[in-house]
Amino acid sequence: MTCELLAPAGSLDKLKIAIHYGADAVYFGGKEFSLRAKAGNLNRREIEEAVSYSRRHGVRTYVTVNIFARESDLSAIREFLEFLNDTAPDALIISDPGIIRMARKHAPGLPIHLSTQANTTNHESCLFWYEQGIRRINLARELSMQEIRQIRQKTSMELEMFVHGALCISYSGRCMLSLYLTGRDANRGNCAHPCRYAYAVQEEKRPGEYFPVEEDARGLYIFNSKDLCLIGRLPELIDTGIDSLKIEGRMKGIFYLASVVRAYRTALDAAMHGEYDDGLVQKLYVELDHVSSRQYTENFLNGIPGRETMRYQGPAVQQPFIPAAVVIEGGKTPTVKANHVIRPGDRLEYMNRDISETHFTVKRITALDSGQPLEKTIGGEIVNMECDHQVLFEPWALIRKRQSVH
Ligand code: SF4
Repeated sequence: MTCELLAPAGSLDKLKIAIHYGADAVYFGGKEFSLRAKAGNLNRREIEEAVSYSRRHGVRTYVTVNIFARESDLSAIREFLEFLNDTAPDALIISDPGIIRMARKHAPGLPIHLSTQANTTNHESCLFWYEQGIRRINLARELSMQEIRQIRQKTSMELEMFVHGALCISYSGRCMLSLYLTGRDANRGNCAHPCRYAYAVQEEKRPGEYFPVEEDARGLYIFNSKDLCLIGRLPELIDTGIDSLKIEGRMKGIFYLASVVRAYRTALDAAMHGEYDDGLVQKLYVELDHVSSRQYTENFLNGIPGRETMRYQGPAVQQPFIPAAVVIEGGKTPTVKANHVIRPGDRLEYMNRDISETHFTVKRITALDSGQPLEKTIGGEIVNMECDHQVLFEPWALIRKRQSVH
């Protein structure tokens, strides 16, 4: 098996965009029982469509059932597992041993992948989970390259790891900060991300008096980790024998998804064909700098990370582009779903599957239903778009627009 690129799909549209830009497999949650409760997630009809659409495109589907369940969840989980068994995605992603046990009974036709939240850090744990019927493990994010290699040498089961996306300051996402501060439970998919907040010091006998502790003028962000990015290490990772490289971000927008999936698809293909070099990696870093991030770190890959893995300057870096539209029907005069303001005369960029650039100017926009010309879109409309340049648009590709910098 060649190394798989596994992408998040927080909605049906995102799933189609991820597939367009080269995902080999996608993962998504149902409306119930999935971490990332606010990711949109898919209802039952959408799960069925996601599985059949992906299969038609030769792409595997993994469904997350990765909450830590309470007693009151169990009967609904059993019914959901039975539904999934009938729908037949390629695997389930689970972390709770109780749900694993239930899946073996109520969804016996489906392989089980172990979520990163199970915090697997050594080959003995892998062997234990293999004996429990697990076929693939998403390794803990706290492992170094050397440890991944050692685990690989001692087990033949499928191994998966995160290569890109947000990191938790807590150990494998086992965190009570959100529940404690906001009442929203990270272990039930509802994290409010309080690790990204600014913090101050308060002296015990002076309630309400906050002493700002400033890394810089913006404040103190002691828990705010940078984002993971291992695009510069793909040949070494492939060489470890890892089976699947996973991108985090079911809650991220379509521009993030398209940009990150195509960057890793490009890197992975180049690495597998001996075409991966420093020049390409630098171009891919520039691409990844175009999506909103908290700057990048390689986290534990080189050993225990230090101060440089934290971002002290505030929550996130802003992206210079916005997704102007998604192509719904391709061709030279595409039908697009506007995502933002587009006017005739705008200079836009078609996001190719590779990272080459195709710019064009919008000549005319007409409403799909009435055929009337429009002065502009505001976002959400389905329109036909005429361009000055012969671009062959493909369905589920994105069109992006450079934001004016203030
Ligand atoms: S609060 Fe931060 S560290 Fe805790 S689970 Fe949420 S994202 Fe992770």
